[in-house]
Amino acid sequence: MSTIDSTSSIKIAVIGGGIAGLTCATRLKQLGLQTVTVFDTGKHTVGGRCSSRTELVKGVSMTFDHSVQYFTVSDERFQKIVNYLVRDGAARVWNGPIGILQNGKFSAERSPKKAFIGTNGMRSVAQSIAKFCQVQQPVWIGSIQFNDIVQKWSVDRWGLFDYVVIAHNGKCAARLVENAGVPEIHRLCLTRFSSQLSSKENRMTLCSLFVLMVAFERPLGLPYQGAHVQHENLSWVANNTEKLKSDRPQSQSRADQYECWTIISSKTLGEQNKVPQEHIPPNVASRISHLMLQSFADATGMKEKLPDVCFRKLQLWGAGVPINKFSGGTECVFDAAHKIGICSDWLVSPCVQGAAISGLALAETIVQHINGNKSSTPLQPHFNPATSPSAIGDFP
Ligand SMILES: Cc1cc2nc3c(=O)[nH]c(=O)nc-3n(C[C@H](O)[C@H](O)[C@H](O)COP(=O)(O)OP(=O)(O)OC[C@H]3O[C@@H](n4cnc5c(N)ncnc54)[C@H](O)[C@@H]3O)c2cc1C
Repeated sequence: MSTIDSTSSIKIAVIGGGIAGLTCATRLKQLGLQTVTVFDTGKHTVGGRCSSRTELVKGVSMTFDHSVQYFTVSDERFQKIVNYLVRDGAARVWNGPIGILQNGKFSAERSPKKAFIGTNGMRSVAQSIAKFCQVQQPVWIGSIQFNDIVQKWSVDRWGLFDYVVIAHNGKCAARLVENAGVPEIHRLCLTRFSSQLSSKENRMTLCSLFVLMVAFERPLGLPYQGAHVQHENLSWVANNTEKLKSDRPQSQSRADQYECWTIISSKTLGEQNKVPQEHIPPNVASRISHLMLQSFADATGMKEKLPDVCFRKLQLWGAGVPINKFSGGTECVFDAAHKIGICSDWLVSPCVQGAAISGLALAETIVQHINGNKSSTPLQPHFNPATSPSAIGDFP
């Protein structure tokens, strides 16, 4: 791949600072483009669905991974990123035990793939990639418009850009491009929210997942740290306290007296109880938290034995995980006439690796365009089912 003269004044706006957007921006910079700005809504940090929360549990700071739980690697390009993350101290191997939980019985994975986690929770992965990016946050981009005369994009109050990268999905992306003068890109961004694919509507489809962050008064003594759960209401449980123990400084040893778990719902529970994610009505939060805790006790075989809960918080990922993926044969989407592209997990595979590869692919497509290749990628909205058996994404 030939790079760009470093004096280039080409300006690129990347809208979305999740793994896809950050990887795209970093690769653009590596290829010689210096004026790349990532816009992200994150109040505290970047990362989107690859993030963590710190909560005060009885005065003690506790970290919860509340979206990505771990990731695996099968692609050489992503392996290079993971090698960097490990060297940077942002990621490390997680030896678990990780497995499957069914009817209260845990079985370790038969041929486990190497699992990676962030060293200060999953947020450290996104933060480490973001070191190479110029990020504006918290910034919500509400409008973009292509100007045919100057052949540039106007991006809200941020001025003119030569290229725009849409690095997010769901309703926000569809709304952003609805009146932007790129109907084919808009058609691709239209989304359905469901736990099932529709035979009638060939659209990108996202499931919704509830995440319950819960701290118990004392350790549960369970012999595993993470498990994909086969239960009508749950899909995953993980013990954050044990998972992140070796990365915690000695000064935070008080964190070990409680035990923090992340409990993730099934797709069906998310769909059947969907509410606006920004404002979960208190009665719904209470009912779903109670149901998920009961299901947790049931799935772990801890009925009647669960210690008291000293902290709990419920979150809904309305646009959680894609259950289908683009079948255009490319890892990103690019409209050459309008100099706009899309990168995100649904273009490759619903996981951290998929998002990163899509970001890399779009960066390289943009550089090829700058270097004279004026073709677009396929823009027809065709999708295939995602093949992951897990509600929380793919582990390639
Ligand atoms: C509960 C849950 C568990 C998961 N578990 C795993 C797992 O264990 N392993 C795994 O590999 N994957 C997992 N995934 C999937 C994984 O999170 C995603 O595949 C990946 O993080 C997607 O990255 P992305 O960059 O494509 O999108 P996102 O992470 O969604 O990033 C998009 C970003 O754009 C921002 N944004 C949106 N609109 C605008 C706007 N208008 N202006 C500015 N910014 C905007 C968003 O706030 C967000 O920060 C999980 C997902 C969920 C929801």
